Amino acid sequence: MVNDFDLLTTLSNRDFVCGFSEAVKVSLLKDPALFCQLCENSTAIRARDMDVAGPVIRASAKLHLDHITMGGDPFEMLEARPLDFGHWSAHKLETVSDFSLRHGEAVAIGVAIDSVYSALELGLDESVTQQILQCLTDLGFSLSDPSLGNVEGLFDGLEEFRQHLGGRLTLTMLTRPGQPINVHTVNREKMLAAIEHVQHFARTQGSFLSDRD
Ligand SMILES: [Zn+2]
Repeated sequence: MVNDFDLLTTLSNRDFVCGFSEAVKVSLLKDPALFCQLCENSTAIRARDMDVAGPVIRASAKLHLDHITMGGDPFEMLEARPLDFGHWSAHKLETVSDFSLRHGEAVAIGVAIDSVYSALELGLDESVTQQILQCLTDLGFSLSDPSLGNVEGLFDGLEEFRQHLGGRLTLTMLTRPGQPINVHTVNREKMLAAIEHVQHFARTQGSFLSDRD
């Protein structure tokens, strides 16, 4: 378990924040109360207040660990891999950006995209979606990146993800916090709209890396 918080103090601000996109992800899948905690404390976490960040890190690590050890599928033999929420695009964004995006930064964008897609296609509440995007932004993530301009490349990521799963495409989306759902097809138009929405959000929020147009 993550108990050695001394290690965390040696991280750069960028690397410190990076881990929290996975915390947002796992809280949305499994622990709505933790998601609220993240939303309420995003600014303090970004400022590295360990009294606030510490419990969130512990809770997030426990959720990841419990999933692996008690999820009944430790070797990921089942087609659904809920912890991959937001990751089909994240993996692709990392490579398209030539790894100028760290994994955690790409996951923040990926979670934002799949959350908006979930709102457009699966009825995830729009105010919750807004909260997710705001929380990620307040934590210090930029939800825009030049690599998002390569939409075709991004969609190649879907195909690669399908192959990685060994056949049928299975993506985890969200109907509400704590309630993931598996989907096997993607509505391309709505996914494009989701990507655009996330970029628009990033631009209008004045997020720190998004001032490129
Ligand atoms: Zn990840």
